Amino acid sequence: MHLTNITIIGGGACGISLFIELFLQLRIANSHKKVSITIIEENEEVGKGLAFGTKQPGHILNTQADLMGIHFAEPAHFSEWLKKHDSRVGKEIVDNQGEDQAFTTRRLYGDYLKEQFDLYFELAEKEGMSVDLIKASATDIEKQKNGYSIQLSSGQRKLCDFAVLATGTPVANMYEELSDKKNYFDSPWPSSKILDRVPRNENVGILGSSLSAIDALMTLADNDHQGKITFYSLDGLMPRVQVEKPESYNCQHLTVSNLHKIQREELRSPTIFEIFRLFKKEAENFKGKKINWKKTKRTGVKADKLLKKDIAIAEQGGDALMNIPYALRYESSQMWKLLDENDKLRFKSWLGGYWAVNRHCMPLVNAKRIEKLFEAGQLEVIPKLEDVAFDESDERFVLTCQDKKRKEKFLINATGPASAVKDMKSELVKNLATRKLIEPEKAGGIKINTQTMQVINRGKSCPDFYALGHITNGLLLDVNAVWFNVKTIGNLSQHLINSITGENSL
Ligand SMILES: Cc1cc2nc3c(=O)[nH]c(=O)nc-3n(C[C@H](O)[C@H](O)[C@H](O)COP(=O)(O)OP(=O)(O)OC[C@H]3O[C@@H](n4cnc5c(N)ncnc54)[C@H](O)[C@@H]3O)c2cc1C
Repeated sequence: MHLTNITIIGGGACGISLFIELFLQLRIANSHKKVSITIIEENEEVGKGLAFGTKQPGHILNTQADLMGIHFAEPAHFSEWLKKHDSRVGKEIVDNQGEDQAFTTRRLYGDYLKEQFDLYFELAEKEGMSVDLIKASATDIEKQKNGYSIQLSSGQRKLCDFAVLATGTPVANMYEELSDKKNYFDSPWPSSKILDRVPRNENVGILGSSLSAIDALMTLADNDHQGKITFYSLDGLMPRVQVEKPESYNCQHLTVSNLHKIQREELRSPTIFEIFRLFKKEAENFKGKKINWKKTKRTGVKADKLLKKDIAIAEQGGDALMNIPYALRYESSQMWKLLDENDKLRFKSWLGGYWAVNRHCMPLVNAKRIEKLFEAGQLEVIPKLEDVAFDESDERFVLTCQDKKRKEKFLINATGPASAVKDMKSELVKNLATRKLIEPEKAGGIKINTQTMQVINRGKSCPDFYALGHITNGLLLDVNAVWFNVKTIGNLSQHLINSITGENSL
């Protein structure tokens, strides 16, 4: 008997969550013996993607434990797991505001993911389902009359009826021209390659100043780096500092209902200017008085000063600029979907940087470590990066900022994950784009049906091809949070199972 095969490419947080949910729903429907599931993962272990494969204790989750559950509709599963594994996880909980709100190391979260995968993989086998984990890289996919043929790095091909892209966050292909230079690192991960090759006393330049740059910094700081570390970035802005216990706040002006009202009354999408106006009104409501917006400008202020101020603000419960994006976290994707394509692009270029530093903050524990590095004169942030070149004569990288040149022997590219398909460093994504099996979305990532997570091709939802996570970033916005991706998995698995059982054609 031909078993319908579902192949999930990528065994990270999304791939694991989907695998477990598909198994559960198929088992409950007693259809699990008619379907086989394959996971293709290029790393040694599942669950250990870019974010959770790290070994550094300074790489901390930026989301509290009770939102990090990997099981659909059970966000608190990870905090429950922490309580059960109390003795084992002690040192890995770095910021314990009560176990439910704990922030743990990312490596512990990777262990949790792997454990959940192993548990349900074994259970699926025990229940008589055909499941398979292939350790290889998927490099290309070809459409067949029925289903797909997936090219593997091992030289083999895997045929499947349904394919799901869950390949995670590809690093950017910026500064490719530097990639053959001996002391250049194209990404802060895996940290082992940095630790193996950068001597402790050497100075290091880091491109970027966002969360990825903080990761590179923490890798060096965790390992007692003594040389000077310099961030070079466009705006010189570091992420703000996470409030330990944010007070709950209900937005009254910037709401989905007010944006829908604009649609209803004006018969058009809300614009980014209208949204910004509502945000300002919301912030003044939060604060209870008028805000001098000029004073909230962060560019032009030294990073160490901003950090000190942000630590104090975080310890006092945060401010409007941080707490409103946080309060909007369950609705921001829905609001994003109401914008038209041009306003999404406008948001990215005009407000994207501010959104990123306020919405995705750094943990307080790390902020205090970084403050000490500034005080010791070991860290500097230089804005207005204009150019990066390589001087062959002395084998140094030359960084130009506001017409001034600085030299670095070691350089780490921490400019963050690529948003646009053309910038993603992934052979598979490149080949899929060349074959036109995926189509770029202007605001980033690929075109998908946001209800079902089916890939959209030539204006139509593909009946047998789905995508999850970062590759859907332009349409969904919030894909850099596990809890958000896990939510999208519910719809995907429901749709896929209905396709197999024929219910979608009813
Ligand atoms: C540095 C960093 C820190 C983050 N911190 C947090 C956080 O604190 N909290 C939070 O909620 N979210 C965080 N995120 C976002 C989080 O990683 C994502 O929301 C989530 O991991 C997405 O899971 P994923 O499975 O899509 O990606 P990943 O976890 O990256 O998994 C993708 C998997 O696919 C595999 N793969 C890729 N390409 C192929 C291929 N061609 N063939 C075979 N296998 C392939 C990879 O090896 C990897 O295992 C962070 C992201 C990054 C980059």
